[in-house]
Amino acid sequence: MTTVVTGATGQLGHLVVEALLRRGAEPADIVATGRDLTKVADLAALGVRTVASDYTDPESLRAAFAGADRVLLVSGSEVGQRVAQHANVVEAARAAGVDLLVYTSIPKADTSEMQLAAEHRTTEQLIRGSGLSWVFLRNSWYLENYLPQLPTWLEHGAILGAAQDGRVSAATRADYADAAAAVLLDPATAGGTVHELGGSPAFTLAELAAAVTEATGTEVVYRDLSEAELTEALVGAGLPRPYAAVLADSDRGIARGELEVTSGDLERLIGRAPTTMTRAVADAVENRA
Ligand code: NDP
Repeated sequence: MTTVVTGATGQLGHLVVEALLRRGAEPADIVATGRDLTKVADLAALGVRTVASDYTDPESLRAAFAGADRVLLVSGSEVGQRVAQHANVVEAARAAGVDLLVYTSIPKADTSEMQLAAEHRTTEQLIRGSGLSWVFLRNSWYLENYLPQLPTWLEHGAILGAAQDGRVSAATRADYADAAAAVLLDPATAGGTVHELGGSPAFTLAELAAAVTEATGTEVVYRDLSEAELTEALVGAGLPRPYAAVLADSDRGIARGELEVTSGDLERLIGRAPTTMTRAVADAVENRA
C-alpha cells in the first residue's frame, strides 16, 4: 500500500513519516511530499520516496499522487489561501483514484466560531462532496505553540492570554503524528470517520502558568486580558497585527471550549496516554538547562 504524506517537509508531516516507519511501513511504500525537498533529505536517505509538489500547482500534485492508495493532506500554512490550495489536493486525489484521503482539521470544525476554523470547515465540506472516502483528524492545539514562549514567560513572570478559564486539550505534534500514522496504516480504517483529537488532561492557561512555576521555581502567573488588549500586547511584542488578531481570536475560542476535546480518540488511536502538558513543560525546562 502506497501512502503519500503532504506537508512532509514541515514539522507535523515529517513526524508522520517517522511514525509510519516506526509502525512498520516499508520506506519505499511512503511518498513524502512538499515544496522544499531539502527538508526531507534525511527521509530520502532511509529509502522514503520524495516528490516535490505545491498546493498551488495541480500538475505537481497529480505527479506526487500517481499510484497512491492513501493520502494524508496536512492542512496548508498560508492562511487565507488554504481553501483553493486544498481544493487542488482533493481534485488531484480524486483524479489519482486514491482509496482514502485523510485531512488534518480543527476540533468541532462544523460549529467552531474561531477564525482559524473557517477554512477547515470549508475544506471538510469540499472533501465530503468529492466522492472520495475520507477521514478527518481534527487536531487540537499543539503543545509546541506554547513551549517556545518559556523564556518570555520567565522574563516577565507572566503568561498573557484571553482564554479566561477555558481549557485547551493541547498535545504534542508527535502524538498527533502517531495518530495519523495509525489511521493511515490500519486496513480497517473506515471512510467517513471524524476523530476529535486532543491531549489530556485539558488545562487552563492558569494551570499552564502553575506548571511553569512548579518546573522552574520561578513564579509565573496567568494574566487574562480582553481580546483587544491581547492583540495590542502581541503587536507590541512584534507580531504582525493580522497574526496577533488570529491568536487573540483563538484564545477566545479556548474560552468558549472550542479547543477542549473529551473524545479519548487520541489515546485510543495511539494506544497509550498522550504526553501531558506538565511533562512537556518539565522536558522543555530540562532541555533549556
Ligand atoms: P509547518 O509550518 O512546519 O509545515 C507546513 C507544511 O505545509 C510544510 O511542509 C510546507 O511545505 C507545507 N506547505 C505550505 N504551503 C504549501 C504549498 N503551497 N504547497 C505545498 N506544501 C505547502 O507546520 P506544522 O507541521 O507545524 O503544522 C501542520 C499544519 O497544521 C499547518 O500547516 C497548519 O495548517 C496547522 N497548524 C496547526 C496548529 C495547531 O496548533 N493545531 C498550529 C500551527 C499550524 P514547505 O516547507 O516545503 O514549504
